[in-house]
Amino acid sequence: MGNIVAIVGRPNVGKSTFFNRLIQRREAIVDSVSGVTRDRHYGKSDWNGRNFSLIDTGGYVVGSDDIFEAEIDKQVELAIDEADAIIFMVDVESGVTPMDEDVAQLLRKVDKPVLLAVNKVDNNKRLENAVEFYSLGLGEYFPIASTNGSGTGDLLDALVEAL
Ligand code: GDP
Ligand code: MG
Repeated sequence: MGNIVAIVGRPNVGKSTFFNRLIQRREAIVDSVSGVTRDRHYGKSDWNGRNFSLIDTGGYVVGSDDIFEAEIDKQVELAIDEADAIIFMVDVESGVTPMDEDVAQLLRKVDKPVLLAVNKVDNNKRLENAVEFYSLGLGEYFPIASTNGSGTGDLLDALVEAL
């Protein structure tokens, strides 16, 4: 049984905040994808006695805030190949964006566990707003707040169950 988990999603949704919260030990490997300026960070974590490797994708490009849909798609495709489960992170503050819809379209075809994490759910209003992410066609989602850890336990329960 595999135990590689990739976190994908567009920039600034909170992927690295979530990753940094979870990992006990960052691995030295920072894997640059050739032809793509975005690289990946690897870490190890465990939950309920289950160990897994976590890959944080994207967002390490220096000197640019530009992100091209093709780069995100490439990270998602790499994650689909490499990972045993995928956490697709979106941001309730910005709501559903065209880039989220693009990623969702790729992930709907995947025959691996995909967990939709709606991040930045810091209050009840945002919890209500999170329902719009059903429109991504990925089913149930996990409302979380990576900054304080709220909701992440339920997400991790489901993740290790799916691995
Ligand atoms: P990434 O580009 O997807 O890796 O996103 P980052 O982890 O770098 O986070 C982008 C911004 O979102 C940072 O300013 C974080 O502090 C903020 N952020 C991350 N998680 C949360 C959260 O749960 N609530 C709020 N309000 N902000 C968050
Ligand atoms: Mg990041």
